[in-house]
Amino acid sequence: MTDYAKSMDAAREAVHYACAVCRDLQGRLGEMQSRFKDDKSPVTVADFASQAMVAYILTARLGRVRLVAEEDAAALRAQIERGDASMAEAVAEAVRPWWDDVTVEDVLDAIDVGNAEPASSSGMHGFWTLDPIDGTKGFLRGGQYAVSLAWIEHGAPLIGVLGCPNLSLDYSRPFDDLDPRGVLYLAASGEGVVEAPGDDPGAHANKVIRLEPAEGEPVRLCESVESGHTSHDLSERVLERLGEPAEPARLDSQAKYAVVARGQADLYLRLPQPPKPGKGEYIERIWDHAAGALVAREAGCAVTDVFGRELDFGHGKGLEKNRGVVVAPARLHGKAIGALEELGSFHHPE
Ligand code: AMP
Ligand code: MG
Repeated sequence: MTDYAKSMDAAREAVHYACAVCRDLQGRLGEMQSRFKDDKSPVTVADFASQAMVAYILTARLGRVRLVAEEDAAALRAQIERGDASMAEAVAEAVRPWWDDVTVEDVLDAIDVGNAEPASSSGMHGFWTLDPIDGTKGFLRGGQYAVSLAWIEHGAPLIGVLGCPNLSLDYSRPFDDLDPRGVLYLAASGEGVVEAPGDDPGAHANKVIRLEPAEGEPVRLCESVESGHTSHDLSERVLERLGEPAEPARLDSQAKYAVVARGQADLYLRLPQPPKPGKGEYIERIWDHAAGALVAREAGCAVTDVFGRELDFGHGKGLEKNRGVVVAPARLHGKAIGALEELGSFHHPE
């Protein structure tokens, strides 16, 4: 088995069990603790438990790993120091069905495996990046979310595993009608992407291939639920230029990349809002895009920023060289980039 095949197997297993942990916790949201980070975004027992599970399995299968993940255990450790270990204990309890005899110390250490820095773009070897729950807001509102794990080398994802625990393999099922089986996407650079049922680690996987939408049909957009993450007004104006618009699908997380890859939507637009006075522009995080972008690209979609530039994962934890995201089959993608240019809402840095 090649190193890549071994890495893909380990990543599949890690995301599979992280999804199992999340699914279990989303089923009893009422009991689950969450807190707010300094940037006011929510983080839950499930974010920590998912990250611990992924780090535990990757390390068990591959040895020491370089993992750049969204969460760290500092806040949990600080709570314990103040005499409150309840959230850390809830994290250990959440993973215990899949991790025998796990202790609070074990989960804190596993979460902190994710504290690595990205390999420099000139470094010979790559790194993993993880969003343990992408779309935490969706998770909390009982909607779509994703567990997203990717292997990056020289600024590009080579392996992407995207677990969508509430998305259905039945494309006709509405996104708000949650499917308890979920779907898992496995993408390898240059080798395509497959989808498999999310509840069976050994299940057969089917290739996902995205064709151009038929000319003259309404363009089906998907975008974030959160208007702070993307401009709904601007996407509406883009769609008006592309022909008859259909009602957009709004869903949380990188599931949007999968939804375009599998043809349930034609276009995913993530159009940055102008920064608030005194604030800089929002820089997208690598873990919010790496796995999803590879899934869409390997299905045959073009994936770029609003200026048509490739997403560049070689600049640390942020997509410093990019603004926003545009995903669609190539011909439609070109039209969307053209429409954005005509609207002139974004100013190219050069
Ligand atoms: P989505 O579910 O597509 O709305 O994206 C969720 C992700 O958006 C979260 O994981 C955040 O990291 C990220 N995010 C937070 N603030 C912003 C922002 N101002 N613009 C774009 N994305 C953001
Ligand atoms: Mg995220």
